[in-house]
Amino acid sequence: MNKDNSTQARRTSIEKTLRSLTISKEAPKWTVAFFALLYIVTNIMTMRVAPSKEILIVGDARMPLSSFAGVLSSIGNLSIIFMVVFYKKLGFILALTLLVLQFPKLFYDVVINNTPTSLPGFFSNILTLVSIILIFFNNSKIERYQQKVREHAVTDVLTKLPNRFADAELVERLIKQGKTFSVVTMDINNFKNINETMGQSTGNGVLIEVASRWKKIADSGSSGTVDFVARQGGDEFSLIIRGYYSDQELLDTIKSYESALADIITIDECDFYISASFGYAEFPTDADNGDALFACADAAMLEVKRANSSDHILRFKPDMLKTDHSIELEREIRAALENDTIFFNLQPQFDMKHKLRGFEALARMKSSDGRFISPGEFIPAAEKVGLIDKLDGTVFRKSAEFFGELINRTGMNITLSVNASVRHLMKNGFLKEVQDIIDRYAIPPGQLEIEITESIMIDSYEKALSCINELKEMGVKIAIDDFGTGYSSLSYLHRFPADLLKIDKSFIDKMNSDDSSKQFVASIISIGHIMGFDVISEGVEENDQLDTLREIGCDFIQGFIWGRPLMKEDAEKLVLEQANK
Ligand code: C2E
Ligand code: CA
Ligand code: CA
Repeated sequence: MNKDNSTQARRTSIEKTLRSLTISKEAPKWTVAFFALLYIVTNIMTMRVAPSKEILIVGDARMPLSSFAGVLSSIGNLSIIFMVVFYKKLGFILALTLLVLQFPKLFYDVVINNTPTSLPGFFSNILTLVSIILIFFNNSKIERYQQKVREHAVTDVLTKLPNRFADAELVERLIKQGKTFSVVTMDINNFKNINETMGQSTGNGVLIEVASRWKKIADSGSSGTVDFVARQGGDEFSLIIRGYYSDQELLDTIKSYESALADIITIDECDFYISASFGYAEFPTDADNGDALFACADAAMLEVKRANSSDHILRFKPDMLKTDHSIELEREIRAALENDTIFFNLQPQFDMKHKLRGFEALARMKSSDGRFISPGEFIPAAEKVGLIDKLDGTVFRKSAEFFGELINRTGMNITLSVNASVRHLMKNGFLKEVQDIIDRYAIPPGQLEIEITESIMIDSYEKALSCINELKEMGVKIAIDDFGTGYSSLSYLHRFPADLLKIDKSFIDKMNSDDSSKQFVASIISIGHIMGFDVISEGVEENDQLDTLREIGCDFIQGFIWGRPLMKEDAEKLVLEQANK
């Protein structure tokens, strides 16, 4: 069997799987013949027995044979009702036919033959007919209602995909069968931004489109494996993959779901460039029950988010199952702020000729046992517990102190970029804080840059705008960080007096995978230029990315290829090297 044929044979649509999960088993259709036959036999017997004058002697009792007619006809009617109840439409049509076929004979007996003994049979026939019609229509109504309830229970209302209950049921069934399969957790990146900035209905539009692309792959069988996509809730989806013969085949399937997001999604005339994080775990290798499997896949997916790497797919490894230590993390942040152990790294930014533009200050923190904690972990935690302005402020102050001394010593015209979270920027004292730092460390305002994320523009546009205008008046530069992640309307941007657009790493990661991704980055650069901004690409790691960025006219880069975040001593060395060139 070639691969195509085997795929064809194994193809099973999501609906088919879902139906097999939810529809209660019906009796085989052919068994309806038994009841039809029973009806015919009892009917013939009733006709023979009713007019009979014979007397049946059982022991001492003497019974007229005709008295059995009622019993027989009841059995007949019962089998007719069974047919309608258990065999639905088929049973109903058959029952109707059997009843109607008797009318000519009954009519002939009563009217032409003038046999009044057939009159009860005639009426009983009519009554049975009315009952089965009532039963059938009532049953259909209940049936339709039950079907709806059943569908509702296992279908996600928004995307029409199966929901997590269907998913869990399928997993339980597959575990019982004991075959190997994988569970993949798929979470849309930066979805919160879309919802918050563009509104829920646009967010819903994105979810529906993503769901429909994934459903298409699962139903077409194009991945070569048997796939079942479901929505777990929010922006989280899951995928159950069966019928693969190697790890590579499994990975290829997941990649096909990743590639389905490569094309831009347009909702309400806004373009969205969507990516997702995929974590997966296998039964029985990684876990032997449903809950544990999902937990493992989730842990791998969260690791993808944390790692901020270009690889968006990860397989579960046991060390990913750390317990939720958010309370501990909060304690660590408080302790680090109190003990003044928060420090910073400086990641260099270069122009396309490798000349130093400046540095981005990045917060660094160690736990009390000396382990590095990733900013991907502690920044969101600090935001959540309201410590981010203190943390931002510390990094700002410390890096500015170092930077001010360095540029004043070397006379280098380079820029220091600091990250300001929304909460920090919105704080009443923010402008004063910036002015104090400029004054205290003698930094020319044009060599200081504040990085803000796109979402700030919409969250509190007017306040943000007035704050940013004042920063501009002070001569400080503004960079828009993580540009393109979720929000894409240009109208806000147009009125925003920024200096630098930072293209998010996720776009750079994909840029060389296909032409449309490259064109997308090229158009961000052109639009940035039209609006009078410089454009920097973040997360550049490879030479061919650098080549492409040169080709499409990017102004600056920041990435591991030319510089990782450096300790301040190493940053100083780099500046001195450049100063002596
Ligand atoms: P960001 O502002 O987008 O900073 C860039 C992040 O990308 C840094 O991660 C940097 O190390 C990483 N990066 C740069 N080039 C490459 C590359 O070529 N490959 C890879 N794989 N990564 C690269 P980091 O330092 O882990 O920071 C993560 C995020 O934490 C930052 O993203 C920023 O949002 C936040 N953050 C860091 N420091 C601060 C701070 O002082 N205040 C605030 N509010 N947020 C901060
Ligand atoms: Ca940044
Ligand atoms: Ca960024």
